[in-house]
Amino acid sequence: MTTLRDLLDASRPSFSFEFFPPKTEAGVRTLWASIRRIEALAPAFVSVTYGAGGSSRDRTVEVTKRIAAETTLRPVAHLTAVGHSVAELRHIVGQYADAGVRDVLALRGDPPGDPNGPWTAHPQGFTHAHELVSLVRGLGDFSVGVAAFPERHPRSPDWESDIRHFVAKCRAGADYAITQMFFRAEDYLRLRDRLVAAGCDTPVIPEIMPATDVRQIRRFAELSGAAFPEDLAHRLEAARDDPAAGHRIGVDHATAMADRLLAEGAPGLHYITLNRSTATLEIHADIHASRSSRALASHH
Ligand code: FAD
Repeated sequence: MTTLRDLLDASRPSFSFEFFPPKTEAGVRTLWASIRRIEALAPAFVSVTYGAGGSSRDRTVEVTKRIAAETTLRPVAHLTAVGHSVAELRHIVGQYADAGVRDVLALRGDPPGDPNGPWTAHPQGFTHAHELVSLVRGLGDFSVGVAAFPERHPRSPDWESDIRHFVAKCRAGADYAITQMFFRAEDYLRLRDRLVAAGCDTPVIPEIMPATDVRQIRRFAELSGAAFPEDLAHRLEAARDDPAAGHRIGVDHATAMADRLLAEGAPGLHYITLNRSTATLEIHADIHASRSSRALASHH
C-alpha cells in the first residue's frame, strides 16, 4: 500500500479536504455535492471528522465507507479515544479494514460537553494518542496520521513537553501529521523549527480554515485555542453587513497564508470545508493560479 507519507514525499505539494458527518438529509446532499466537486480535482485524500457521541460516530463510519465504495477519493477516517474501550476501538478499525479504508487519523479527542474540561480516560481505554497510533499500526496495513498544534496543545504546560509528546506519537508509527487551524504562518514555521531541532522529520500538513464569518471563527478559535489576529477580526467585523466582502477577506487571508506556507516548503495543504466547497475551492484555485504564474515567470 502507498502510505500517505509516500505521497507527501512526492515533489509536488499535496492538497486535501476535511468534511464532517452531516446530521440531516439536506446536510447529506450538501456534503455529497461538495464531495463530487472536490473529486474532480483529484486531491491526495479527504478526511472525515469523528464526533463525540454514538449516532454522529456511526455517521462518520458510514460516510467514510461510502467515500471508499463510491468515489475515486482516498478517505482518511478520524478516530478518537473518547469514551471507547480498546475492544471498541479495535472493532471500529476492523470495520474500516473490511471496507478497504486504510487511513486513520489517530486522536485522543476532548472531553465530551466541555472540550476544555478535565480529561478522563475510559477505564479500558487510552489516555494519549500515541497508544491509539500503536494500536492501529498493530492491527494491519494502515497509514496513520496524528494531530499537531502550531500554538502548542492548549493543555501542554510548556513547549518542551508538547514537542516531546508529539515526537513520541511519531515514533509510535505516525506517517504524517495535520495541524490544528491557525491564522499566522509564523506559528506553523516555528513549530516546524522546533520539530527539526528535536530530530523529527514527520511531514506536518498545515490545516487551512477560511475565516469568512467572524462570529463562527471566534467560536472555533475559542474551542481550539487558536489565536485570531485582531486586524483580520476588525476587517471582518467591518464587513459584517456585506457577506460577499467578508467572504473575499477570508479567502484572501487564507490564500496569502497558504501561499507563504507552500513557498516555505510545507508538504501540502489540508482545507477545512465545513462540507461547503465554495471558499476552499476559491482558495485552491487562487493558489494554483499564483503558483502557475510564478512558475511561468521563473521559466522565462
Ligand atoms: P495527544 O497527542 O494525546 O495530546 C493531548 C495532550 O496530552 C497534549 O498536551 C500532549 O502534550 C499531552 N500528552 C501526550 N502524551 C502524553 C504523555 N505520554 N504523558 C503526558 N502528557 C501527554 N477531535 C475530535 O473529537 N474529532 C475529530 O475528528 C478531530 N479531528 C482533529 C483533526 C486535527 C487535524 C486536529 C489538529 C485535531 C482534531 N481533533 C478532533 C481535536 C483533538 O482530538 C484534540 O485537540 C485533543 O485535545 C488532542 O488530541 P491529540 O490526538 O493531539 O492528543
